[in-house]
Amino acid sequence: MSRGKLFVISAPSGTGKTTLLRRVMARLSGLSFSVSHTTRSPRPGERDGVDYHFVSKTEFLAMIDQGLFLEHAEVHGNLYGTSRGAIDQQRSAGIDVILDIDVQGASILRRSSQLEATHIFISPPSISELEKRLRGRGTESQEMIAIRLSNARNELQAVHEYEYLVINDLLEDTVDLLASIIVAERARDHRFPSGQAIGERVSL
Ligand code: 5GP
Repeated sequence: MSRGKLFVISAPSGTGKTTLLRRVMARLSGLSFSVSHTTRSPRPGERDGVDYHFVSKTEFLAMIDQGLFLEHAEVHGNLYGTSRGAIDQQRSAGIDVILDIDVQGASILRRSSQLEATHIFISPPSISELEKRLRGRGTESQEMIAIRLSNARNELQAVHEYEYLVINDLLEDTVDLLASIIVAERARDHRFPSGQAIGERVSL
């Protein structure tokens, strides 16, 4: 069985990435989501162990000391990190894993020679549209919205480091595009759109 691929996806906060990823994962099989650790407080509706592993700063720092993270970064004043455990088991079972991480985390992984991944950047159609979406979400304070907008401007500078750019304008079109990228990457690995290895189904 071939080992699952890694898809690193970065997008400024409020780009609509969560909805987009849910839709793509509902459409394609053999795809899982890496659950990160964070020191941020849960938003209404978020579940521990599903959206994130919500931990204290002390617990997070202890995990860094124990070398449990593949990458970690401070984003919007909170700590976020991908643990090795979050991806190893799935990949060994031949399941592809999506990492939703910021541009700093993506850059750390790109420099790591042991990890090959496809890097995809999801951009809002414009900064003004992003501001509208962040305000519409109603989960962030004025101050937090300002921080997230300023970070978005910086994050957009990193677009050229990604192999794919996907602009999330019309959701349906964006779901199609992102799913197509994943399917095309699977074909590069001689795998069916489902993720199953071609060699396991037909003898060539
Ligand atoms: P949010 O607080 O809106 O869920 O996420 C804020 C930012 O943190 C997003 O840009 C998201 O991609 C990033 N993020 C989430 N998990 C991780 C992680 O494990 N590592 C890094 N570097 N960034 C993460």
